[in-house]
Amino acid sequence: MEQGVPKDPEIQEFLKGVKQVFMVMSGKGGVGKSTMAAGIAASLAAKGLRTGLMDIDVHGPSIARIMGLTGMPLGTVGGKIQPYAHSENLKIISMQGFLQNQDDALIWRGPLKIGVIKQFMTDVEWGPLDVLVIDSPPGTGDEPLTIAQFIPDCGAIVVTTPQGVALADVRKSLNFCRQVGMDIVGIIENMSGYVCPQCGHHADIFKSGGGETLAREFNVPFLGRMPIDPSVVMAGDDGVSALERSVAMKAAMAEIVDNILSGAAEAKGETKMEKIAVPVAGGMLSSHFGHCEEFLFATVENGKLTKTENLVPPPHEPGVIPNWLAQQGATVVLVGGMGERAQDILQSRGVAVVCGVQSDKPLKIVDLYLKRNLKVGDNACNHDGDEDHHCDH
Ligand code: ADP
Repeated sequence: MEQGVPKDPEIQEFLKGVKQVFMVMSGKGGVGKSTMAAGIAASLAAKGLRTGLMDIDVHGPSIARIMGLTGMPLGTVGGKIQPYAHSENLKIISMQGFLQNQDDALIWRGPLKIGVIKQFMTDVEWGPLDVLVIDSPPGTGDEPLTIAQFIPDCGAIVVTTPQGVALADVRKSLNFCRQVGMDIVGIIENMSGYVCPQCGHHADIFKSGGGETLAREFNVPFLGRMPIDPSVVMAGDDGVSALERSVAMKAAMAEIVDNILSGAAEAKGETKMEKIAVPVAGGMLSSHFGHCEEFLFATVENGKLTKTENLVPPPHEPGVIPNWLAQQGATVVLVGGMGERAQDILQSRGVAVVCGVQSDKPLKIVDLYLKRNLKVGDNACNHDGDEDHHCDH
């Protein structure tokens, strides 16, 4: 990322011993980011990969609690900090290991945090690692920025829950990654449905699928869903790795980790198919979604454009065009503006909406989207509830 940030020789030395680095991020707290980071690390270690788990949430380090490290201060040997060896292949470092009193709160400013993060890399006896998993605090503050600057090859794994509020926050994390040039490995939808502890039945208690639609909106891989399993909470509280307690989590995590390691679509040998719709008037993207002349539909298989067709939508009535787009098999709609009701209809039918696209030739817009280079501004329609407005409310 950011050219001009000098390379730190000690960190360069550390990175020589690490094959791959992933940072687990979330838009807000409580979505299960640390639980996912711990699960990913434990699952990678169980596959035989030499794994490091680094908790850089210096204010609220929960990895220690999740992995049962509480009350175990970390020691040094020959001036190097010894990470906690959770198993043969899994080493962990967390600020918790340095606190005298486990309930102490740290009140630190940015530069001090950056210093600790650097020390976690350079002063810890990690030994060679196949994978380093970093659990960052929620949001887009000093800590993820520090990682982006120190480790330009780091890939981001973004955790969300299916609900709209979490999804709105997680967009900021995804945009942060784009801004700092960090590769987005993909999105995990945690707390996606509920697994009954008695019969194993899977019920969708919140609307699920939001994470997958968001992955389409940003054209990044969807890594998988993790159900709500009460035994995860109990494992966390008992300081036992949730993978050891939750059968549902172990199975879902194995799939997620395969997707992380090998790219979401290839892992399953599936063809990844998208149908991108763009409203068109006069040969250009029409900012009037509900009153365009026609829609361009671009079919994309495994990232390659394979077919385009232009179709005239039915006459504009509230809700008609969004439902028609879903019927046509659209998976993503790229628009200048769209009212909230139309967006809700599309999203509830699993169709992603990218708002705020500037007018241009529709195929150029599709190309920019596929290259993850589409710049978006504000939604050109913010007149919710205005039935007469030209947007499709
Ligand atoms: P974050 O790091 O995003 O703040 P945590 O990983 O600390 O979130 O998780 C918050 C709470 O939710 C914890 O009590 C954790 O045990 C619980 N939790 C996380 N994921 C799941 C899940 N899939 N099923 C049940 N409980 C979960």
